[in-house]
Amino acid sequence: MPYSYADIVIPKPVHQTFQYRIPADLLNQVAVGKRVKVPFGRQVIHGVVVGLSSRAEVEKIKLIIEVLDDHPVINPDLMALSEWISSYYFSPPGITLKMIVPPNLAEPKTKRSYLLNIPLSQIEAEMAGLKRSPRQAEILQLFLAHQTDKWDESWGDPSACKALVSKNLLLAVEEEVLRNPYTKEIQGAAAPILNDEQSVALQKIKPAIEKGEFYPFLLYGITGSGKTEVYLRALEHNLSLGKEGILVVPEISLTPQMIDRVEGRFSGKVAVIHSGLSAGERADAWRRIQNGEVSIVVGVRSSIFAPFRRLGLIIIDEEHDGAYKQENDVKYHARDTALVRAKKAGAVVLLGSATPALETYYNSQIGKSERVLLTRRVAGRPLPAVTLVNLKETEMALKGGGISRPLHEAILKRLERKEQTLLFLNRRGFSPFLLCYDCGFSLKCRHCSVSLTFHKKTGSFHCHYCDFTTVPLVVCPQCHGSNLAYLGQGTEKIEEELIALYPEARVARMDRDSMAKKFAHDHILGEMRENKIDILVGTQMVTKGHDLPSITLVGVLCADTILNLPDFRSAEKTFQTLTQVAGRAGRGDTPGEVFVQTFNPDHYSVVYAKDQDYHGFCEKELLFRKELNYPPFTRMISFLLSGKNEKQVEEKTRQFAGLLARYKSSSIEMLGPAQAPLYKLNGNYRWRCLIKGKEIRKVQEISRDIIREWTPLKKNGVRLEIDVDPQNLM
Ligand code: ADP
Ligand code: ZN
Repeated sequence: MPYSYADIVIPKPVHQTFQYRIPADLLNQVAVGKRVKVPFGRQVIHGVVVGLSSRAEVEKIKLIIEVLDDHPVINPDLMALSEWISSYYFSPPGITLKMIVPPNLAEPKTKRSYLLNIPLSQIEAEMAGLKRSPRQAEILQLFLAHQTDKWDESWGDPSACKALVSKNLLLAVEEEVLRNPYTKEIQGAAAPILNDEQSVALQKIKPAIEKGEFYPFLLYGITGSGKTEVYLRALEHNLSLGKEGILVVPEISLTPQMIDRVEGRFSGKVAVIHSGLSAGERADAWRRIQNGEVSIVVGVRSSIFAPFRRLGLIIIDEEHDGAYKQENDVKYHARDTALVRAKKAGAVVLLGSATPALETYYNSQIGKSERVLLTRRVAGRPLPAVTLVNLKETEMALKGGGISRPLHEAILKRLERKEQTLLFLNRRGFSPFLLCYDCGFSLKCRHCSVSLTFHKKTGSFHCHYCDFTTVPLVVCPQCHGSNLAYLGQGTEKIEEELIALYPEARVARMDRDSMAKKFAHDHILGEMRENKIDILVGTQMVTKGHDLPSITLVGVLCADTILNLPDFRSAEKTFQTLTQVAGRAGRGDTPGEVFVQTFNPDHYSVVYAKDQDYHGFCEKELLFRKELNYPPFTRMISFLLSGKNEKQVEEKTRQFAGLLARYKSSSIEMLGPAQAPLYKLNGNYRWRCLIKGKEIRKVQEISRDIIREWTPLKKNGVRLEIDVDPQNLM
């Protein structure tokens, strides 16, 4: 007997499921994993069936209106994963599911096309009658020229086609299109012969894939050691066993070069997922995966939700990257979620990095994953030599500039030798502070507690957190003096300095401002590759994963920007960034050199990065973390309360903290309430409480109780955001 009731989750910020009755005519259509149209309050919304039952749990029960899918869109694996995410990260189940499934799956895109409605042999005769409509005649001519009865989009002029339809010369048809933005045939470069370390790595990974059981690896390989080649071989082996694989990379590393490397090796079997896809393209990629048309997905964070059914391998490249944590809506971590998915699917996970996150390093140390090492660069290339430049003592090439003398000398040498230089500065814009020398006033954002950055290109001040923009000041708004100073330097100012110092050099800048245009990023990387650029200066986005063999010099203009952040991970992030950016140098035949300018040449994160001693850094950092009870030795949940009314937020935070305090024990630690380092953001005042404990289960249990107690006390206008394993504590 079919079930008569369905449990349905709806995309609203609520945690329960809702029961609906299945009308008789839909009894055979309703199934777990399908989307349905249901009444909810006064609305009609799309929900997902998550369970079936034969008994009503409530008295007044509503009816399902319509079933939207012929087949379940969410397979059992993904359904279970979604449940795990909702319960682990405290996200409403309907919102989690909505995130996993592309929204417009039900409406495959159709495209208007045209068919010739007369025999080809009649075209010339008809054209004679179209003397006064040359565009229409031209279209007909194209059918003839191509000897086809099917219109091609590239011929253009749909309006002329429409006119031809009204004359019965063409037929209009709707055809379903699958949007695949990567259709070009790629001839991949031949696979290189593996070196010893790569072979050893694969000798461990391949049998694990064959076994078909969950097994996590940490592939720790220094920059330029050929990790990507190991990924490709692992994917190849996985594919040869008839299994599907996912390769996840940080957004910024998903360059055409990366896509070509994968497509070239597995032509026609790959779907690419990135954030630039339209909703329709994403839905189509999803469909191609679900229909089994592709067996490899390469893409960003959300690729871990690819609806494969025979998943054998998930690879997370640059697994330490902060971008793997989603910061809005559902605050999931793609690496951790991938591990859970692989556990459920019996798949192998490969976490790759030259600077694995401390948590990942620790897990491999206590045997939660197997460590596989690539300790040498390919082709015997050496790691670059790193020199620290003490900004407290060193003279700058230009007074008040950002390039020190030693770095300047090194750049000159590169220009002479026609080699490339990469400069990294973690600040965009021209000048990050405006200060009044007379009264000490500094210009802040009206909506956020940060200084405004002056951008020369727009001639105005910008807030880097909200969209606030204001015109430049001539006098100080506080004392009306005119002794205003533009302090500090961003990439825009450095670019100017470079042009002044090296008028002959071709200088380019890569940051969020210069990269606003679509594909601008790929364009610059292409120009670097073709040696059309001598010096590239940029923000964080230049530090990641790129393989540009002509760069022989890397300069870090200020190593201290991350170090000074009030975050327990600031040393780790500094070490990672320095090591990664240094790793961009010397990837070709000429050895590389790195200059790191810093006010803290003695800080251990800088010193270990200079020596490129990852293990040394980790051991030292682990001691600190242990002493201070920070991850990986404890697990954390952050509660952020925010709202426009400063008093109200503070009051509510204190009330919330009061609830929290009652759960304090020898094994559960509470931090806060404290104003968030970014106290005001977008006009919202922000307070944070943290709870820490050895076992995540215990910490979560308490959190669940607190949230239950909090629900009747909460106040409109004060928002509570829960972040499990928070990465960003700003
Ligand atoms: P990583 O990701 O570890 O930084 P890549 O995978 O980008 O390093 O490899 C660096 C370069 O070395 C790439 O151009 C790659 O094609 C090349 N490479 C990788 N493995 C080999 C090999 N076994 N022999 C020769 N070249 C290789
Ligand atoms: Zn702002």
